[in-house]
Amino acid sequence: MKFSIVAEAFERIEKASARLDMTGFLAELFKKTPVEDIEQVVFLCQGRIASSDKGLDIGMGEKFVEDAIAKVSGYSNREIENLYKQKGDLGLVAEELCGKKKQSALFSAELTVEKVFQNLLKIAKSEGTGSQDLKIRLLAELLNSARPVEAKFIIRIPLGNLRLGIGDPTIMDAFAISLVEEAKNDKKVSEKIDSALKEKKPEKRKEEFERKLKVFVREKIEEKYNVHSDLGSIAKKLKKSGLKGLDTIEITVGIPIRPTLAERLPSAEEIIEKLGKCAVEAKYDGFRLAIHKKGEAVTIFSRRSENMTEMFPEIVEAVRKQVKAKEAIFEGEALAVNEQTGEYLPFQATMQRKRKYDIKEKAKEFPLKLFVFDVLFENGKNLMPLPFQKRRKILEAMVKPGQTIELTKSIVTDSSKELERFFNENVEKGLEGIIAKDLNARYIAGARKFAWIKLKRSYRGELTDTIDVAIIGFFRGKGMRTEFGLGALLTAVYDSKADVFRSIAKIGTGMSEEKIVELEKILSKIKTKNRPARVDSELEADVWAEPKLVIEVVADEITKSPVHTAAKKELGDGLALRFPRMISIRRDKKPEEATTVMEIIRMFEQQKHVQIGDET
Ligand code: AMP
Repeated sequence: MKFSIVAEAFERIEKASARLDMTGFLAELFKKTPVEDIEQVVFLCQGRIASSDKGLDIGMGEKFVEDAIAKVSGYSNREIENLYKQKGDLGLVAEELCGKKKQSALFSAELTVEKVFQNLLKIAKSEGTGSQDLKIRLLAELLNSARPVEAKFIIRIPLGNLRLGIGDPTIMDAFAISLVEEAKNDKKVSEKIDSALKEKKPEKRKEEFERKLKVFVREKIEEKYNVHSDLGSIAKKLKKSGLKGLDTIEITVGIPIRPTLAERLPSAEEIIEKLGKCAVEAKYDGFRLAIHKKGEAVTIFSRRSENMTEMFPEIVEAVRKQVKAKEAIFEGEALAVNEQTGEYLPFQATMQRKRKYDIKEKAKEFPLKLFVFDVLFENGKNLMPLPFQKRRKILEAMVKPGQTIELTKSIVTDSSKELERFFNENVEKGLEGIIAKDLNARYIAGARKFAWIKLKRSYRGELTDTIDVAIIGFFRGKGMRTEFGLGALLTAVYDSKADVFRSIAKIGTGMSEEKIVELEKILSKIKTKNRPARVDSELEADVWAEPKLVIEVVADEITKSPVHTAAKKELGDGLALRFPRMISIRRDKKPEEATTVMEIIRMFEQQKHVQIGDET
């Protein structure tokens, strides 16, 4: 397929302001794409070139991208930099300069998806001496044949910022739209939905039927995505065999499974009331890892399904030594422990390992321990449907005693007193709190369903839990702070139903100079001219940002607010955080893993409940 079809669709998506239009354009693109190109087109929509398990990072520095533009357009690096300063996006610079090249191309052929993809793949794979030159040449080769709008998107991919505002949920929505017709022809499905609509008035039925059908298709896709998190390969199956193609998708060692998530409740009593007799585990404040083992091959994923294998050599080593199963997928929390004192180091120390260089040295300085807490797959068997209690037994039998891998500390109880004692014991040791687990629950991939409930240490007089928000823009300070002019952040929670980020707080304090510099660096990469399509905010930020970065904040309480849009649809008024303060940058969380609108509503309700409880 011609790459111009993809670039034109991207252009329409970028210009669209309504979510529905974006999804529609994407569905059209998927319909037009032939089966042999669909995997690559989906990867391009995600701004990547392979599924995350491959660990292929295409990242290219801005300077090298500028060199490639200079090489093809005939403009000097200085001219390019000046234009970049004006436009704030090298994609736009490439679009403009490729439209008025000073020199004509030597050889130029119409670009295909295949060609663009192959060159990007070669860029990602080239390393060692001379690789920078090769990367520049490969990118320049594409620009040489690119029309201006194609150049814009080609340039943005190696910079890691496509600026389309398409997340995985939107890609699944688009597939659902393009498969609705097929589902309509499936008699069984139609009858099931029809019978559910009997109560509805006849004039409403048709519309409701369409909606329900789309939800049905969407859920089917997501069900597979949760256990096989590779939309490229899912797209290929859908294109080839329609919805039936999903039946052949199975849990595969090496393809990430979406992590189960914890709910929260404010007290030990409420947890016991909800779960009855349950397992209670120490909550370690580290890095969640999903470990895939196949013989000697070990792959490690973060909770965002990024391949992090390279960063944890001692864990790879320990898995080979301590895990008896030939094939396994299991989860644990890795954190740095001071060998001398047995003390757990703060999250920031563990995070130092998220780096590309000196990993071996850091591994010596901060050796990690992996506290394992769940197993999902063992020797060809899907364990996810088993009750937690059984999975834990299997996990216990699977791990040999050793230096690095241990099971999480855990008790089983139906007494809130005992739960509280265990909680205090752990907090005293510097841990975050506890996670209570439903003994009978299956592993629920990609969702919160009260199978896990967390209770974290409280910041006295404040909300008992921290909140993860996505940055959607910022306000410039009044001449204070740095040149960049970061005064306050505009942040949002995630509305998972609409796949939209709704504003909840303006955050101005709690940032050290060092943090500000780090934030500014990231913000300069994700800032946008206009409000991104997935952002819902009535406040006008001075500068908008793609919702990509998550930060953890504490606040005194959640209050009703006329200016923020979080929960406005549900409650009439918006919700806001009172006195929010940033604690840390959570690079390990995807924006879609920020606290959700529904969670905020629940926390708001719980808070009322606690306050009333306190008064009596
Ligand atoms: P939160 O990030 O606050 O929603 O808490 C859930 C996270 O706690 C999980 O994603 C894990 O990274 C982490 N965690 C720490 N200890 C445990 C444990 N024993 N069981 C499950 N998750 C744990």
